Amino acid sequence: MSVGVRSLGSGSSGNGLLIEGDGTSLVVDCGIGPRVLASGLRAAGRTVGELDAVLLTHEHVDHVRALPRVIKERVPVIATAGTLRAAGIASGGAEAIALGGELAVAGASVTAIGVSHDAAEPCGYHVRLAGIAVTVVTDLGRPEPALAAYLAAADLIVIEANHDEAMLRAGPYPAHLKRRVLSATGHLSNAACGRLLLEALAGSRRRPTVWLAHLSTTNNRPTLARQTVQRAIAAGGFVAPVVPLPRHGHDLVWRPGLSSAETVQLSLPLG
Ligand SMILES: [Zn+2]
Ligand SMILES: [Zn+2]
Repeated sequence: MSVGVRSLGSGSSGNGLLIEGDGTSLVVDCGIGPRVLASGLRAAGRTVGELDAVLLTHEHVDHVRALPRVIKERVPVIATAGTLRAAGIASGGAEAIALGGELAVAGASVTAIGVSHDAAEPCGYHVRLAGIAVTVVTDLGRPEPALAAYLAAADLIVIEANHDEAMLRAGPYPAHLKRRVLSATGHLSNAACGRLLLEALAGSRRRPTVWLAHLSTTNNRPTLARQTVQRAIAAGGFVAPVVPLPRHGHDLVWRPGLSSAETVQLSLPLG
């Protein structure tokens, strides 16, 4: 089986990420609808029922929409105890992971990373399998100090670049929503994402690929997000492939050793 990571969708309309290698298939978040989940997995030659586990970052609907389908197919669900409770998942078929704790899931090792977000017990994940390491952190209001080390240890970083702060402040969101997004338990801006990556790369010996996730369609632009992040890391002398994730990402695939140009190529619709 191939080793790789595939985006199944990113942003407030639904998040999902397939990570597979050495016979293990995991999905982080299932906020895309059940049909989109199934068709995304089909593009990778998989079915929902074949998944070894679904890892949930938190209970917001853009991360759990396809959960009933996942549970119906008897796929084990892994999340913090707080998220399992808030998502209304009974203990059978689910396993709680502690923040900072590590769990063996099929052939993978999974660590839950605490994040600051307005949910019950939200987290990101550091996943190691088949010789690769992937760190996924979306939906966080501010970077926690412990985050940089998990980012530094990854070959692929999937990190939120939710909004451009000036666009958000000048944009059409009502005041209470602007405050929520900008708060310490809201979402990460392009600039904050860039600062965090700069810190992570300074402590890393790897040359990771960076996928920018959970982009706002109202308060951000993919090129703006990429430029802001690239400029931030360039200040430290770093160059990394930075790819903003499209909302619908079935054909965006990362494999170890694949150049960013090839990664971007794969993201173009066929035909
Ligand atoms: Zn979200
Ligand atoms: Zn959220």
